[in-house]
Amino acid sequence: MSSAIVWFRRNLRVSDNPALTAAAESGKPIIPLYVIDDLDEGSAGRWWLHNSLQALHAALRDDGGYLVIRAGNPVDAIEQIAEDFDASDVYLAARYEPAAVQQERDLETVDGLKLHVSTDYLLNEPGTVLTGGGSPFKVFTPFYKTASAQFVPYTPAAAPADMTYVSPEPEGDRDAHQALLPTLDWADRFPDYWTPGEEGALARLEEAKTKVANYDVERDRPGHDGTSRLSPHMHFGEISAGQAHYAISSQRNAEPLIRQLYWRDFSYHLLSEHPTLPSKPLRSEFDNFPWVEDDEHLKQWQRGKTGYPIVDAGMRQLWHTGWMHNRVRMIVASFLVKHLLIPWQHGADWFLDTLLDADLANNSAGWQWVAGCGTDAAPYFRVFNPILQGQKFDPDGAYVREWVPELENMPSKFIHEPWTAPEAMQQECGVIIGRDYPEPIVEHKAARQRALDAYQLSRDLVNSAAS
Ligand SMILES: Cc1cc2nc3c(=O)[nH]c(=O)nc-3n(C[C@H](O)[C@H](O)[C@H](O)COP(=O)(O)OP(=O)(O)OC[C@H]3O[C@@H](n4cnc5c(N)ncnc54)[C@H](O)[C@@H]3O)c2cc1C
Repeated sequence: MSSAIVWFRRNLRVSDNPALTAAAESGKPIIPLYVIDDLDEGSAGRWWLHNSLQALHAALRDDGGYLVIRAGNPVDAIEQIAEDFDASDVYLAARYEPAAVQQERDLETVDGLKLHVSTDYLLNEPGTVLTGGGSPFKVFTPFYKTASAQFVPYTPAAAPADMTYVSPEPEGDRDAHQALLPTLDWADRFPDYWTPGEEGALARLEEAKTKVANYDVERDRPGHDGTSRLSPHMHFGEISAGQAHYAISSQRNAEPLIRQLYWRDFSYHLLSEHPTLPSKPLRSEFDNFPWVEDDEHLKQWQRGKTGYPIVDAGMRQLWHTGWMHNRVRMIVASFLVKHLLIPWQHGADWFLDTLLDADLANNSAGWQWVAGCGTDAAPYFRVFNPILQGQKFDPDGAYVREWVPELENMPSKFIHEPWTAPEAMQQECGVIIGRDYPEPIVEHKAARQRALDAYQLSRDLVNSAAS
């Protein structure tokens, strides 16, 4: 009998995995395969991927099987394995990034292989949520209304019970798996915060259930652990979108958190509709925006040394834990794009490299939203004031104190603008601004005005070109 390859992609789990289930039901002996191909994982994502693959391998081992890990072009790897092990079928889950879609197209052209593509990553497939007129939505709220009416909730499936594996196990590439880990000790602290793999994901999902009822009030308080922290697990498909929906919707006051799952869907719908989302503003008036290339400012932002405590706390949380609270993502992104006028793509690149949940669709849509150049975006002229944002969402400074320990002893009144604390107080708190913690690298009011002027200039350019 011929065999079947189960090509794992962003579905690194055994339960509620339609590709794996369909392969098992085919009755053919299977070869579970992952091909490391560097598509769009950054350094932090590769750390996660290493551990998630290890966890998947262990889960399949417990079932008497294995996971073959190879590296290179997946189409070549699959073709080779199919030839060596007489595989006639490939079971895979759909992906939506342009390069991943291309891989699927390339695989379709391989002679003698039948592809079985299943869907489990989103609640609704891109291209299926349309306006009454049949076009894609540009704005989230009407998208959400239609999408949530369209999604049919279901009870997640258990892992398939009867899988037989091709024997002997095809050879894998241990070195490539090992090479996913960073050579620096930067990731050493990640295990304190995260457990990659399906078991860790299901445990997080259980924990998330306890946060659902208060999510609407807690979600904007970065100093509180009020959000689900499911994002890296969802990025790697360690739980399906349907599993997340099922667990969350079983709780009281589920709508605010369920809504976030639809923001994720919306990003993927945008990426599918606009493959240039990661690099090009969706609004053409931003084509000639007078961005400023400033390496020094970019580095200060990346290192959490801007002198604005809420911005620095966010950037340091990102560096230490591989994750940043959503409210703070908005604040730091706005600061980079508006206060520093640095192109949003530079910020998006840094996030893609350092976030454990780095996700081409969500990240690109998030940055375009903040920069004001997405279809449904915060208006560019609304410039977040990092002092007021800090005071509003981190009123007692708990978040800043955790990530910017230099300011640990600063009274709450001054924690979001420590440069205004009298010198004697700075002495008493053990932090001299300008010596132990930076002065603000730009002054808020002047930076805000510069951003508004730049925006006006770019609009004038568009208008004069049109007239
Ligand atoms: C500039 C910027 C960049 C971002 N980059 C990413 C990214 O690379 N990867 C990523 O997963 N999210 C990204 N987000 C969205 C959001 O910040 C994270 O999904 C969220 O903070 C993850 O934490 P959580 O799991 O506790 O979310 P929760 O609030 O508990 O939400 C549950 C899930 O819903 C999804 N979700 C929540 N908010 C959003 C959103 N605004 N857009 C899309 N999906 C959402 C995530 O899968 C999340 O795990 C970005 C947002 C901004 C403003």
